[in-house]
Amino acid sequence: MTHSIVGPPTSWERALIASLRAAYAWSVRSSERRAMHEVARMTGVVMAAHGPGVGPVTPREFAKALHGRLGLLPAIADCGDEEIADAVLLSGDCLTDVAFDLACEYAAPLGEAIDKATWMPSWTRMRAEQIQQATYSAMIGSGKQEVYVDSRKFLIEHPAVPSEADLQELVASTGALLAPNGYQPIPSDQIHHVGGGTTWWWACPTCRWPMAVTGNRVRCRYRPHTASYKIVSGAKASARPSLDRIDSGPRVATPVAQPGADAVCVETGIWRFIVVPGATELRLYRELTKLGAAVALWPDLDDYDLLVAVGITEHKVDVKEYRSARRLVDNLRGARSSIEVLLPDTHEYQFAILKDALPKSIRVTTERRFLARVRKQLKEHR
Ligand SMILES: [Zn+2]
Repeated sequence: MTHSIVGPPTSWERALIASLRAAYAWSVRSSERRAMHEVARMTGVVMAAHGPGVGPVTPREFAKALHGRLGLLPAIADCGDEEIADAVLLSGDCLTDVAFDLACEYAAPLGEAIDKATWMPSWTRMRAEQIQQATYSAMIGSGKQEVYVDSRKFLIEHPAVPSEADLQELVASTGALLAPNGYQPIPSDQIHHVGGGTTWWWACPTCRWPMAVTGNRVRCRYRPHTASYKIVSGAKASARPSLDRIDSGPRVATPVAQPGADAVCVETGIWRFIVVPGATELRLYRELTKLGAAVALWPDLDDYDLLVAVGITEHKVDVKEYRSARRLVDNLRGARSSIEVLLPDTHEYQFAILKDALPKSIRVTTERRFLARVRKQLKEHR
């Protein structure tokens, strides 16, 4: 699971949150009349963090700064996190992928007075917990573990569907309990527009959410989902376009273009906080089950992610996929020793950092190590 800031944001965190909000607002300023007002308000927040006479003082100067390394902003320079200092939030008029990642880890309210911009997407305004809360209260409505698991699986397995009618039908056939308004039309920057108003979208091979479309490039917003493609138009403008893989990552089936006109998908917050970690949790669930372990997902209405049993030996595991290892270390202080932290393959590089930074009582493993241990136990158990 991904969690966000615990306690009120510090000065550099406020500057980071304001930068993320300003970058988002800047990216939609041609279609959203309130956007420049938001950039101006966030310039004020960053100026307050910097003190008089330091850093950008106009919205345009601030927007210009957001096209460079965040570490160049004095308020963020000493944040002590290289991933954040090196991050660039805007490329041209588009939000970068790193902006989405950081936004999701650092999403937090900036206080009543400046949090009235309800036109902004939820990830710019709310803590991860708040987004999760709204979604969870619907899913746990029945109080039954199996309904909760089915509902959560539903979001992870169907983060985008061809139409609202299809969604209703699927929901009815599975009995999933979903929060109202959890699905929305696919945002325009995740849609490929061809002539005559025809539109297409492609599901990420890993998380199945519509990939971002930038010019003729197509890729998931979540960077660890590395498959990247180039659009190849059909002979006729009306023909279904196809994709050519342009990265050298592991082979996966090439996504097929799906009509965009009526399609709906879960909103960004649900995608990043439930679907992205969920794709890893379900993958681990399937792998461990296939090995022969007894696995339960999100036991006790999501007390943790996976309960893995080999005979009478039980492992309680929480999967962590943070972009910022430092943020993860901060959030893990005080974690329960009964639950092991598992870094998926994509985040294995954080293992040494966590081992160094965390007290011994907090147990950390990686996907590779954990699977090897379970395999060994299964062999001994047979
Ligand atoms: Zn993805």
